[in-house]
Amino acid sequence: MMRRATLALATAALVLQGCAAAAIPVVAGGLVGRKTVSDRNARKARKAEAARIRSLPAAPMPAPMLPGVPPAMQYLYASGEAVALDLQAYMGLANYLVGISADLRIGHDVDSVVLAPGATLEQPKFLPCAGKPPAIVFDIDETAIHNLGFEGDAARRGEAYDAQRWADWERTGTRQVAVVPGLTEVIRVARLAKIAVVFNSNRLAENADATAAMLDGVGLGPVVHGDTLWLQGDAGSTDSRKDGRRWAIAAKYCVVAMSGDQLGDFSDLFNAPGATPAARREAAAGLHTTLMWGHGWFMLPNPVYGTGLRGGMDDVFPPATRWTPTPTPTPNSTPIAAPIAGAPAPVAKEK
Ligand SMILES: [Mg+2]
Repeated sequence: MMRRATLALATAALVLQGCAAAAIPVVAGGLVGRKTVSDRNARKARKAEAARIRSLPAAPMPAPMLPGVPPAMQYLYASGEAVALDLQAYMGLANYLVGISADLRIGHDVDSVVLAPGATLEQPKFLPCAGKPPAIVFDIDETAIHNLGFEGDAARRGEAYDAQRWADWERTGTRQVAVVPGLTEVIRVARLAKIAVVFNSNRLAENADATAAMLDGVGLGPVVHGDTLWLQGDAGSTDSRKDGRRWAIAAKYCVVAMSGDQLGDFSDLFNAPGATPAARREAAAGLHTTLMWGHGWFMLPNPVYGTGLRGGMDDVFPPATRWTPTPTPTPNSTPIAAPIAGAPAPVAKEK
């Protein structure tokens, strides 16, 4: 894995020779020069995406409105901090693909990043790649796109997740979405490097046409159900576990990278029955797993929903870390200074 990272920059120029000469130097020039984020094409793509969202016809505002937006949604969908995390992951992935492409062009072996049946996180074994065309596998929700329409509706309702509403959203919410920042550039690099783009999602197979139309509509398609689009119901899957579909994809493709917003987007082993938050954290930081992050497995932020949002007080705040504030002095013990007229109001520190 480390060899790939080194090769990524050292052989980037080699990768680019003969690859869509008119277009890829612009993309890869930005990568090699570490200026990808400011690359003109990247800015154009993000501006076009912002303009597309602005041009959507405004639907009537449902009533009643709740007074605020949940902090997790503010963070994921509206903060510059989340954009930075998205770009950190996806520019790292684009760079990684340049390295993979270099390996392929000079005849080096490339490893799959899909764990084989029977493998464990402590003793990982990956599926073989021999002779298969390369592919990258993306989750869809909160990895490829942000579900602004659905989550906005949920924020206004202030109600818990509802499976029926989600199914309706899969069928009809094909436009009120936003591409996750940086993904358009990654997909451009992948396709120019002849690396297939495959989606593995827990959306329902019965809604495949609408999901394909949604991906097409935001410029991430085309996709073909059963080849480059895999959904719940495909490959015998009946629930949110994705290993079966991953293995079906890996039977046809050499999966050189995966990207998701949940640990289950990389292996179902992270979601063993009864796994506590501490066990999942330990698994994510295991010796072999650590080597995968940023080198084949690329994680996106999602504080809005998912398996990671679990844990009671003692899970989140271990008892040994308990702290309580020093008791407030009584008026008789220490005088409290009066505020100075004209002094600025105290503000919360940015952490
Ligand atoms: Mg997801």
